[in-house]
Amino acid sequence: EVRVRFAPSPTGFLHMGGLRTALYNYIYAKKYGGRFILRVEDTDQNRLVPGAAEAIEDMLEWAGIPPDESPRHGGQSGPYLQSQRLFHYTQAAETLVQAGKAYRCFCSQQRLELLKKEALRSGQTPRYDNRCRHLRTDQVQEKLGQGVPHVIRFQLESGAEPFHDLVFGWNRHEVAQVEGDPVVIKADGFPTYHLANVVDDHLMRVSHVLRGSEWLISTSKHLLLYRALGWEPPVFGHLPLLLNRDGSKLSKRQGDIYIQSFQTAGALPEALLDIITHCGSGFNSNRIGRTIQDLISEFNPSNITTHSALLDLDKLPEFNRIHLKQRIDDPEQRDLLVEDLQGRIQEVFVTQVQDQEVLDAEYIARVLDLRKGHISSVSELVAPEYSYLWVRPSFSDQQVAALSSVPEAEQIAVLIIKLMEDQSGDEELSVDRISLELKTLAKKTRNTKYRDVMKTIRLVLSGLQQGPGVSEMIVSLGPSEVTHRFRRVLK
Ligand code: GLU
Repeated sequence: EVRVRFAPSPTGFLHMGGLRTALYNYIYAKKYGGRFILRVEDTDQNRLVPGAAEAIEDMLEWAGIPPDESPRHGGQSGPYLQSQRLFHYTQAAETLVQAGKAYRCFCSQQRLELLKKEALRSGQTPRYDNRCRHLRTDQVQEKLGQGVPHVIRFQLESGAEPFHDLVFGWNRHEVAQVEGDPVVIKADGFPTYHLANVVDDHLMRVSHVLRGSEWLISTSKHLLLYRALGWEPPVFGHLPLLLNRDGSKLSKRQGDIYIQSFQTAGALPEALLDIITHCGSGFNSNRIGRTIQDLISEFNPSNITTHSALLDLDKLPEFNRIHLKQRIDDPEQRDLLVEDLQGRIQEVFVTQVQDQEVLDAEYIARVLDLRKGHISSVSELVAPEYSYLWVRPSFSDQQVAALSSVPEAEQIAVLIIKLMEDQSGDEELSVDRISLELKTLAKKTRNTKYRDVMKTIRLVLSGLQQGPGVSEMIVSLGPSEVTHRFRRVLK
């Protein structure tokens, strides 16, 4: 059975890199009929950010890649918060100690600091010198009796076995030669990442570990732990990093890489999933507009390359536009967008909306249909540029002046009203057809050039001197509203 997990540390909120790791795991699970687990690795008590664990799960749900087993939903291998599983880590560590594969270390902070300083002074990489490996049982008992604080260290063996990574191929790091024995249980009784990770992947029967390539170097250490505990290790696949387009690190300092801030800015989750796999590896196509279902069917793990994936956020509006269009084209999704927009109109224009007709679902759906492919978020439709859709313009002195400077304003009004009357047939108004009609219409005004005719129409319909396309405004508003707005010019 395929079981994969996303195992974030709640030391911050979910960012693009994390979302990408979660997404690969989700896709892998769905592609192979497996289960996607969210496990929260909250063992570093000093670095916890309150609320981060819940926020991460919220974001996965919002993104449309909800976990099958998680802190919130539980599951057969719970609990899914490491802070609630301390018993398992202590038990594993004690088993290792009993077997002589781990030991208690009583070295003081001062001693460790000193070791570090000496190493740095002589230009070496600091590492623990494994001194407590050699303590006799009676010495250990004595220190325990005195209540000296201690940690448990795992005894690194040389002879790390090569392992085959799904992405990076054959790998092996001879950890014992470069590192001191790592701490597996800290003085506060909490495990370190390495032990907790191995214990949980085993107990949760994780079949494939798909995680960021920064962990590739730790895998040999993990494999030594599996071997010492007598457990079968999972398959490992390390995912290439996600970098900015210019190859620089995605930095949290930019502030805009948190998923929540994209959500607030009105990004569509499917657009985010699409863009973070766009230039990434493992998919058969690079077209924009792939849904999660497309990603699942196009995924091919053997296509994942070791190159970093580049994220081009300048393209996000384009991704949003295309995905929004797809939503508008889907009747069920469109209904939700209509509701969303109704709420926004009421919020932004509530005091100005004169007639409830603008809140009519059919009218809003028509507006969405006309704007699809041009807007990247429905929130754009409540910007000042589009207020004409929801509110009849009230003319300022300046606008009245602009209007009276057009000698044939009244004639234009008459022609437009006539044109609208002619549109009452069954044929749907179309932007193309209205554009043609307007060209013909402008020929009838002898003293006003085409450009100025357009400006006049725009002014009457929206109060704006520049902005939205005139034919589109007419089609959006529909004949009766256009007529209504032009009648005012005649009075
Ligand atoms: N807690 C680790 C992290 O935040 C998990 C690494 C892993 O997936 O093994 O990256």
